[in-house]
Amino acid sequence: MKIETIAIHAGNHTDATSKAVVQPIVMATTFERDADGGFASGYQYSRSANPNRTSLENVLTRLENGVEAAAFSSGNAAGMSVFQSLEPGTHIIAPDDMYHGLRNQLKQLFAGILEFDFIDVNDSAVLKNHIKPNTRVIWIETPSNPLLKITDIKKVVTIARQHNIKVVCDNTFATPVCQQPLALGADLVMHSSTKYFGGHSDLMGGALITAEKSDWWEKIRNVQTMGGAVPSPMDCYYLVRSIKTLPYRVKGHVHNALLLADFLEKHPAVESVMYPGLPSHPQYDIVKAQMSHPGAMMSFTLKGGEDEAKRVINALKVFTQATSLGGVESLIEHRASVEGPDTKTPFNLLRVSVGLEHIDDLIADLEQAMA
Ligand SMILES: *Cc1c(COP(=O)(O)O)cnc(C)c1O
Repeated sequence: MKIETIAIHAGNHTDATSKAVVQPIVMATTFERDADGGFASGYQYSRSANPNRTSLENVLTRLENGVEAAAFSSGNAAGMSVFQSLEPGTHIIAPDDMYHGLRNQLKQLFAGILEFDFIDVNDSAVLKNHIKPNTRVIWIETPSNPLLKITDIKKVVTIARQHNIKVVCDNTFATPVCQQPLALGADLVMHSSTKYFGGHSDLMGGALITAEKSDWWEKIRNVQTMGGAVPSPMDCYYLVRSIKTLPYRVKGHVHNALLLADFLEKHPAVESVMYPGLPSHPQYDIVKAQMSHPGAMMSFTLKGGEDEAKRVINALKVFTQATSLGGVESLIEHRASVEGPDTKTPFNLLRVSVGLEHIDDLIADLEQAMA
């Protein structure tokens, strides 16, 4: 089946008792035992499993073409479960522009427990140089945040396999509609469901999808259910509901993003545009090879510097100045301010999450703000 069909059907079933076409929300925290003390329903206690979470995990599995998925209460909780599943002393290689929330998590919560290096993972020589006997995971994030750099997934997987290292790909920016890392050889896909999966900036969630069932995956499952950072039945319901429109929303976001990037690139006040869908993107060949659509996240720098960037952001009327991404509404932010004092992001850079408003209104808004 195609992704549009999977998105609608793989997380839903008609209710056996009421015949409701939409699967009901099961709020119960606990489930009745059978006479023999068993749990024939498969459910016992909601932290371990809940019917709505099962449905969410089913659709997530199918969207990424994996064998199983685990849903979490946030993207950071999903990332944390990967780090917690590793033996103390394990070495992780992560991108030098890793999502700052997970980078800070490693630096602040796993210092002294795990070893890590933040490097340019797309540079094969640098990557090979950093592999150590205790390296177990290479973490990748592509396109990256906020510079929209691309990592060649197949290339990293080839190097990782030679050293028996697992590859985890944060696929939040791309979504499975644009890129399917497991098909390119990655072992695990991570998502912040807070972004495109939720799609309406009103819920938090995270997910991991695995290419195979393994002892490692069982450890991650244990962290999920014993650690307990699981989404509520309501959150699972809303996510399943939002995922039904994910393929069409993403196609709409991409449609707008292509036109917006083209407008920005031609605008005299703009210094540079970073967007994987532009032929001027330095890694456009990799984009073409591993992505079916270039996503809808972009950054641009202004010739007028930081002051001009901040002036433009405040003059916008349709775009909202806020962090996060993947919602129906267009968001824009001065990224360096969000990332804090150790940021490497240029101060004249604005990051845009292109929404689903009409493209003419988005362009008109930027046109007036940059005039
Ligand atoms: C938002 C985000 C995360 C973290 O997800 P939360 O749901 O905020 O915990 C991780 N990676 C990327 C690329 C993100 O954009």
